Amino acid sequence: MRLLIMGAPGAGKGTQAKLITEKYNIPHISSGDIFRQEIKDNTKDGQLANKYIIKGQLVPDDLTISVISKRLQKEDCNHGFLLDGFPRTIKQAHALDQLLAKLNLKLDLVINLNVSKDLIIKRLSGRRVCLKCGATYNLNTNPPKKEGICDRCGDTIILRDDDKEETVKMRLDVYENQTKPLIKYYSDQKILVHVDGNLNFRDTFKEVVKFIGDLDGKH
Ligand code: AMP
Repeated sequence: MRLLIMGAPGAGKGTQAKLITEKYNIPHISSGDIFRQEIKDNTKDGQLANKYIIKGQLVPDDLTISVISKRLQKEDCNHGFLLDGFPRTIKQAHALDQLLAKLNLKLDLVINLNVSKDLIIKRLSGRRVCLKCGATYNLNTNPPKKEGICDRCGDTIILRDDDKEETVKMRLDVYENQTKPLIKYYSDQKILVHVDGNLNFRDTFKEVVKFIGDLDGKH
């Protein structure tokens, strides 16, 4: 099962991705998580990526394509994967198609999460993450049990630098201009489905599962 989840920043991709990968036991390949790990490890790629991430811009295509294509060729992806946050440009989508064709594979389903702009802003400003274990929270809908502390590992949870208001505006513009055209790209390939991401995450997940369930007959 080779899946891709897309949507604006704050659409809930990360939350749905975690639920999907746990239920279907496939690796979660998030370009944002890969970059954040590289930044934490202070690698050359991480340093370069960080220059763009802190401004709310996209990391250059060549670097992004190279890190994802290395990741997709690891053995744990042999039986499927879920891509989250990649591709974000038409150039990346072409590169992904070429890589999958070379490996004799194809994407089965692209899930597009639709969410209103107001809700996106509300979600992103309330989002807190744990940099140590990657857990995510929302102060409005899913707060940690103890204020400011990660339930899972006890570390401090923070507002991501790129979730600050000015950067969020930039990320939304980038999404509109560079990533939204992918909706047509995958719709033309007839593998795109739309899911309402305005619902609470459990109801959204039910919708997602229905679409993934429909794939069974096609395998
Ligand atoms: P995310 O956690 O998916 O929101 O990603 C955080 C940031 O990493 C984005 O705002 C971009 O700066 C960068 N990034 C993640 N994925 C990509 C991608 N596919 N192409 C370019 N930049 C990316």
